[in-house]
Amino acid sequence: MKFGSYTFQPQKPQGFDFHILRVKPETGIRIPPVKDMYSNIAVFADTQAVQNHPDWVSQSPLGPAKFGNNNFNIYWSVVCATHPEYREEQLKYIAEVDRQSPGIWLNSQYFADHDHCTCPRCKELHSKSGLGWLEWRRKEISEYMAQIRDVVKKELVFCLQPDPVSSYERYGVDFDDLAKYADKFCVVMFSKNYATPWYWEMLTRAFKKLLKKPFYIALYVYGPGDDPKDIPLPSEILTVSARCVRVGGLEGFLYLTDGEREMVDFQKAALEKAELRQRLRTYGGAPVQEFLDRVASWEKIVK
Ligand SMILES: [Zn+2]
Repeated sequence: MKFGSYTFQPQKPQGFDFHILRVKPETGIRIPPVKDMYSNIAVFADTQAVQNHPDWVSQSPLGPAKFGNNNFNIYWSVVCATHPEYREEQLKYIAEVDRQSPGIWLNSQYFADHDHCTCPRCKELHSKSGLGWLEWRRKEISEYMAQIRDVVKKELVFCLQPDPVSSYERYGVDFDDLAKYADKFCVVMFSKNYATPWYWEMLTRAFKKLLKKPFYIALYVYGPGDDPKDIPLPSEILTVSARCVRVGGLEGFLYLTDGEREMVDFQKAALEKAELRQRLRTYGGAPVQEFLDRVASWEKIVK
Protein backbone atom coordinates (compact mmCIF):
# COMPACT_ATOMS: atom_id res chain seq x y z
CA MET A 1 0.00 0.00 0.00
CA LYS A 2 1.40 3.34 -1.07
CA PHE A 3 1.00 6.92 0.04
CA GLY A 4 1.05 9.68 -2.56
CA SER A 5 1.14 13.41 -1.90
CA TYR A 6 -1.17 15.38 -4.17
CA THR A 7 -0.34 19.07 -4.20
CA PHE A 8 -0.86 22.33 -6.06
CA GLN A 9 2.68 23.46 -5.22
CA PRO A 10 5.82 21.81 -6.64
CA GLN A 11 6.78 20.52 -3.21
CA LYS A 12 7.52 16.98 -2.06
CA PRO A 13 6.55 16.35 1.55
CA GLN A 14 8.48 13.54 3.22
CA GLY A 15 6.86 10.28 4.20
CA PHE A 16 5.30 9.55 0.79
CA ASP A 17 6.15 6.95 -1.84
CA PHE A 18 5.42 9.29 -4.72
CA HIS A 19 4.28 12.82 -5.47
CA ILE A 20 1.64 14.19 -7.82
CA LEU A 21 1.65 17.81 -8.92
CA ARG A 22 -1.45 19.57 -10.19
CA VAL A 23 0.26 21.04 -13.27
CA LYS A 24 -3.10 22.05 -14.75
CA PRO A 25 -5.97 22.17 -12.28
CA GLU A 26 -9.53 23.16 -13.17
CA THR A 27 -8.58 26.85 -13.24
CA GLY A 28 -6.72 26.05 -16.46
CA ILE A 29 -3.62 27.84 -15.18
CA ARG A 30 -0.57 25.75 -16.01
CA ILE A 31 2.66 25.38 -14.07
CA PRO A 32 5.78 23.60 -15.30
CA PRO A 33 6.00 19.83 -14.69
CA VAL A 34 8.65 18.51 -12.29
CA LYS A 35 10.77 15.57 -13.42
CA ASP A 36 10.22 13.44 -10.31
CA MET A 37 6.57 14.33 -9.68
CA TYR A 38 3.67 12.73 -11.56
CA SER A 39 1.61 15.32 -13.42
CA ASN A 40 -2.09 15.77 -12.81
CA ILE A 41 -4.06 17.45 -15.60
CA ALA A 42 -7.73 18.43 -15.56
CA VAL A 43 -8.63 17.91 -19.21
CA PHE A 44 -12.00 19.49 -20.02
CA ALA A 45 -12.47 21.48 -16.80
CA ASP A 46 -10.63 24.65 -17.75
CA THR A 47 -12.01 27.95 -16.52
CA GLN A 48 -9.36 29.93 -18.36
CA ALA A 49 -10.10 28.33 -21.74
CA VAL A 50 -13.80 29.15 -21.33
CA GLN A 51 -12.95 32.73 -20.35
CA ASN A 52 -10.87 33.07 -23.51
CA HIS A 53 -13.40 31.22 -25.70
CA PRO A 54 -16.90 31.54 -24.20
CA ASP A 55 -18.39 29.53 -27.11
CA TRP A 56 -16.30 26.46 -26.13
CA VAL A 57 -18.30 25.90 -22.93
CA SER A 58 -20.21 22.62 -22.58
CA GLN A 59 -23.97 23.14 -22.97
CA SER A 60 -27.02 21.47 -21.46
CA PRO A 61 -30.76 22.01 -20.99
CA LEU A 62 -29.89 23.21 -17.47
CA GLY A 63 -27.45 25.79 -18.81
CA PRO A 64 -23.74 25.82 -19.55
CA ALA A 65 -21.04 24.08 -17.49
CA LYS A 66 -19.90 27.38 -16.17
CA PHE A 67 -18.76 28.43 -12.73
CA GLY A 68 -21.86 29.70 -10.93
CA ASN A 69 -24.38 27.32 -12.58
CA ASN A 70 -25.41 25.49 -9.44
CA ASN A 71 -27.47 22.92 -11.32
CA PHE A 72 -24.19 21.04 -11.52
CA ASN A 73 -21.59 20.16 -8.93
CA ILE A 74 -18.84 22.21 -10.56
CA TYR A 75 -16.74 25.06 -9.24
CA TRP A 76 -15.06 25.84 -12.55
CA SER A 77 -16.01 25.97 -16.24
CA VAL A 78 -15.90 22.97 -18.56
CA VAL A 79 -15.07 22.89 -22.26
CA CYS A 80 -17.28 20.80 -24.55
CA ALA A 81 -15.72 17.32 -24.60
CA THR A 82 -15.87 17.04 -28.40
CA HIS A 83 -14.23 20.35 -29.27
CA PRO A 84 -11.70 19.35 -31.97
CA GLU A 85 -9.24 22.20 -31.53
CA TYR A 86 -9.23 21.91 -27.75
CA ARG A 87 -8.87 18.11 -27.88
CA GLU A 88 -5.91 18.41 -30.23
CA GLU A 89 -4.18 20.98 -28.05
CA GLN A 90 -4.74 18.86 -24.92
CA LEU A 91 -3.26 15.79 -26.64
CA LYS A 92 -0.12 17.73 -27.49
CA TYR A 93 0.06 19.22 -24.01
CA ILE A 94 -0.41 15.82 -22.32
CA ALA A 95 2.30 14.28 -24.53
CA GLU A 96 4.70 17.11 -23.70
CA VAL A 97 4.03 16.90 -19.97
CA ASP A 98 4.49 13.10 -20.14
CA ARG A 99 7.97 13.66 -21.56
CA GLN A 100 8.85 15.91 -18.65
CA SER A 101 7.54 13.82 -15.74
CA PRO A 102 7.18 10.16 -14.65
CA GLY A 103 3.58 9.86 -15.83
CA ILE A 104 0.14 11.39 -16.17
CA TRP A 105 -2.86 11.38 -13.87
CA LEU A 106 -5.96 12.78 -15.58
CA ASN A 107 -9.16 14.09 -14.20
CA SER A 108 -12.14 15.72 -15.90
CA GLN A 109 -11.42 13.61 -19.00
CA TYR A 110 -15.16 13.17 -19.65
CA PHE A 111 -18.41 15.13 -20.15
CA ALA A 112 -19.23 17.83 -17.59
CA ASP A 113 -22.25 15.95 -16.17
CA HIS A 114 -25.62 14.51 -17.17
CA ASP A 115 -27.23 15.91 -20.34
CA HIS A 116 -23.98 17.50 -21.57
CA CYS A 117 -23.19 18.46 -24.21
CA THR A 118 -25.99 19.87 -26.34
CA CYS A 119 -23.96 22.37 -28.36
CA PRO A 120 -24.69 22.38 -32.13
CA ARG A 121 -21.56 20.31 -32.88
CA CYS A 122 -22.46 17.61 -30.33
CA LYS A 123 -26.04 17.46 -31.60
CA GLU A 124 -24.74 16.96 -35.12
CA LEU A 125 -22.12 14.37 -34.13
CA HIS A 126 -24.73 12.46 -32.15
CA SER A 127 -27.22 12.52 -34.99
CA LYS A 128 -24.64 11.36 -37.55
CA SER A 129 -23.43 8.53 -35.28
CA GLY A 130 -26.72 6.63 -35.43
CA LEU A 131 -26.16 5.69 -31.78
CA GLY A 132 -28.35 6.33 -28.76
CA TRP A 133 -27.44 9.48 -26.81
CA LEU A 134 -25.68 7.70 -23.96
CA GLU A 135 -23.81 5.28 -26.23
CA TRP A 136 -22.65 8.16 -28.42
CA ARG A 137 -21.27 9.99 -25.36
CA ARG A 138 -19.48 6.83 -24.24
CA LYS A 139 -17.94 6.41 -27.69
CA GLU A 140 -16.70 10.00 -27.73
CA ILE A 141 -14.98 9.61 -24.35
CA SER A 142 -13.60 6.11 -24.86
CA GLU A 143 -12.14 6.99 -28.27
CA TYR A 144 -10.45 10.07 -26.89
CA MET A 145 -9.01 8.00 -24.03
CA ALA A 146 -7.51 5.65 -26.64
CA GLN A 147 -5.88 8.67 -28.31
CA ILE A 148 -4.49 9.82 -24.98
CA ARG A 149 -3.13 6.32 -24.32
CA ASP A 150 -1.27 6.54 -27.63
CA VAL A 151 0.57 9.72 -26.65
CA VAL A 152 1.33 8.83 -23.01
CA LYS A 153 4.42 6.64 -22.96
CA LYS A 154 4.70 6.37 -19.18
CA GLU A 155 2.19 5.63 -16.45
CA LEU A 156 -1.38 6.71 -17.20
CA VAL A 157 -3.92 6.94 -14.40
CA PHE A 158 -7.55 7.94 -14.87
CA CYS A 159 -9.16 9.68 -11.93
CA LEU A 160 -12.87 8.97 -11.52
CA GLN A 161 -15.77 10.74 -9.90
CA PRO A 162 -16.92 8.83 -6.79
CA ASP A 163 -20.11 7.62 -8.51
CA PRO A 164 -19.95 3.87 -9.09
CA VAL A 165 -23.49 3.57 -10.47
CA SER A 166 -24.18 6.54 -12.76
CA SER A 167 -20.83 7.54 -14.25
CA TYR A 168 -21.95 6.24 -17.63
CA GLU A 169 -25.14 8.33 -17.66
CA ARG A 170 -23.52 11.39 -16.10
CA TYR A 171 -20.06 11.56 -17.63
CA GLY A 172 -20.02 9.14 -20.55
CA VAL A 173 -17.55 7.06 -18.56
CA ASP A 174 -17.56 3.29 -19.05
CA PHE A 175 -15.19 1.77 -16.48
CA ASP A 176 -14.42 -1.28 -18.64
CA ASP A 177 -13.57 0.86 -21.68
CA LEU A 178 -11.27 3.05 -19.60
CA ALA A 179 -9.63 0.01 -17.97
CA LYS A 180 -8.28 -0.94 -21.43
CA TYR A 181 -6.17 2.21 -21.49
CA ALA A 182 -5.46 2.96 -17.82
CA ASP A 183 -2.55 1.54 -15.88
CA LYS A 184 -4.50 2.36 -12.77
CA PHE A 185 -7.50 4.31 -11.55
CA CYS A 186 -7.89 6.84 -8.78
CA VAL A 187 -11.29 7.40 -7.20
CA VAL A 188 -11.47 10.99 -6.03
CA MET A 189 -13.37 10.99 -2.75
CA PHE A 190 -12.98 14.65 -1.87
CA SER A 191 -15.05 16.10 0.93
CA LYS A 192 -14.61 18.85 3.49
CA ASN A 193 -16.05 16.44 6.04
CA TYR A 194 -15.53 12.70 6.55
CA ALA A 195 -17.92 12.37 9.48
CA THR A 196 -19.76 9.47 7.79
CA PRO A 197 -17.00 6.96 7.01
CA TRP A 198 -19.44 4.12 6.29
CA TYR A 199 -20.51 5.81 3.05
CA TRP A 200 -16.93 6.07 1.85
CA GLU A 201 -16.28 2.47 2.79
CA MET A 202 -19.38 1.47 0.82
CA LEU A 203 -18.12 3.38 -2.23
CA THR A 204 -14.74 1.68 -1.91
CA ARG A 205 -16.43 -1.74 -1.87
CA ALA A 206 -18.49 -0.77 -4.93
CA PHE A 207 -15.45 0.36 -6.91
CA LYS A 208 -13.48 -2.73 -5.88
CA LYS A 209 -16.27 -4.82 -7.36
CA LEU A 210 -16.44 -2.82 -10.60
CA LEU A 211 -12.97 -1.70 -11.62
CA LYS A 212 -10.81 -4.02 -13.68
CA LYS A 213 -7.58 -2.20 -12.85
CA PRO A 214 -6.03 -1.44 -9.44
CA PHE A 215 -7.10 1.81 -7.84
CA TYR A 216 -6.08 4.49 -5.41
CA ILE A 217 -8.36 6.68 -3.34
CA ALA A 218 -7.73 10.44 -3.12
CA LEU A 219 -8.77 12.15 0.11
CA TYR A 220 -9.06 15.87 0.80
CA VAL A 221 -6.86 17.38 3.50
CA TYR A 222 -6.37 21.11 2.84
CA GLY A 223 -7.02 22.94 -0.43
CA PRO A 224 -5.71 26.33 -1.56
CA GLY A 225 -7.28 29.21 0.34
CA ASP A 226 -9.17 26.95 2.74
CA ASP A 227 -10.29 28.28 6.09
CA PRO A 228 -8.76 25.98 8.76
CA LYS A 229 -12.24 25.80 10.32
CA ASP A 230 -13.66 24.22 7.15
CA ILE A 231 -11.20 21.40 6.51
CA PRO A 232 -11.80 17.77 7.46
CA LEU A 233 -10.64 16.79 10.94
CA PRO A 234 -7.43 14.74 10.95
CA SER A 235 -9.23 12.17 13.13
CA GLU A 236 -11.89 11.81 10.41
CA ILE A 237 -9.26 11.39 7.69
CA LEU A 238 -7.51 8.66 9.70
CA THR A 239 -10.79 6.89 10.37
CA VAL A 240 -12.06 7.09 6.81
CA SER A 241 -8.68 5.82 5.53
CA ALA A 242 -8.85 2.82 7.88
CA ARG A 243 -12.45 2.11 6.84
CA CYS A 244 -11.60 2.26 3.13
CA VAL A 245 -8.35 0.31 3.32
CA ARG A 246 -9.93 -2.57 5.23
CA VAL A 247 -11.92 -3.39 2.10
CA GLY A 248 -8.62 -4.85 0.85
CA GLY A 249 -6.78 -4.64 -2.45
CA LEU A 250 -6.35 -0.85 -2.48
CA GLU A 251 -3.23 0.52 -4.14
CA GLY A 252 -3.09 3.25 -1.53
CA PHE A 253 -4.09 6.80 -0.75
CA LEU A 254 -3.44 10.22 -2.16
CA TYR A 255 -3.72 13.06 0.30
CA LEU A 256 -4.50 16.46 -1.23
CA THR A 257 -3.02 19.64 0.19
CA ASP A 258 -2.06 23.00 -1.25
CA GLY A 259 1.63 22.43 -0.48
CA GLU A 260 4.12 20.88 1.92
CA ARG A 261 3.30 23.00 4.97
CA GLU A 262 -0.33 21.84 5.08
CA MET A 263 0.78 18.23 4.64
CA VAL A 264 3.25 18.45 7.54
CA ASP A 265 0.49 19.94 9.71
CA PHE A 266 -1.72 16.97 8.81
CA GLN A 267 1.07 14.50 9.52
CA LYS A 268 1.73 16.08 12.92
CA ALA A 269 -1.97 16.10 13.76
CA ALA A 270 -2.26 12.43 12.73
CA LEU A 271 0.64 11.50 14.99
CA GLU A 272 -0.97 13.33 17.90
CA LYS A 273 -4.00 11.05 17.61
CA ALA A 274 -2.22 8.11 19.28
CA GLU A 275 -5.30 6.87 21.10
CA LEU A 276 -7.44 6.92 17.97
CA ARG A 277 -4.73 5.15 15.95
CA GLN A 278 -4.61 2.45 18.63
CA ARG A 279 -8.38 2.00 18.43
CA LEU A 280 -8.25 1.86 14.62
CA ARG A 281 -5.93 -1.17 14.98
CA THR A 282 -9.08 -3.13 15.88
CA TYR A 283 -10.82 -2.11 12.62
CA GLY A 284 -9.35 -4.82 10.44
CA GLY A 285 -6.59 -7.12 9.35
CA ALA A 286 -3.33 -6.65 7.50
CA PRO A 287 -4.25 -3.65 5.29
CA VAL A 288 -5.42 -1.60 8.29
CA GLN A 289 -2.26 -2.48 10.24
CA GLU A 290 -0.11 -1.61 7.25
CA PHE A 291 -1.87 1.74 6.88
CA LEU A 292 -1.41 2.56 10.57
CA ASP A 293 2.25 1.48 10.46
CA ARG A 294 2.77 3.88 7.56
CA VAL A 295 1.22 6.72 9.55
CA ALA A 296 3.36 5.81 12.59
CA SER A 297 6.49 5.89 10.38
CA TRP A 298 5.96 9.65 9.99
CA GLU A 299 7.39 9.95 13.55
CA LYS A 300 10.84 9.65 11.99
CA ILE A 301 10.44 12.51 9.56
CA VAL A 302 8.00 14.97 11.08
CA LYS A 303 9.30 16.93 14.03
ZN1 LIG B 1 -20.55 20.02 -27.33
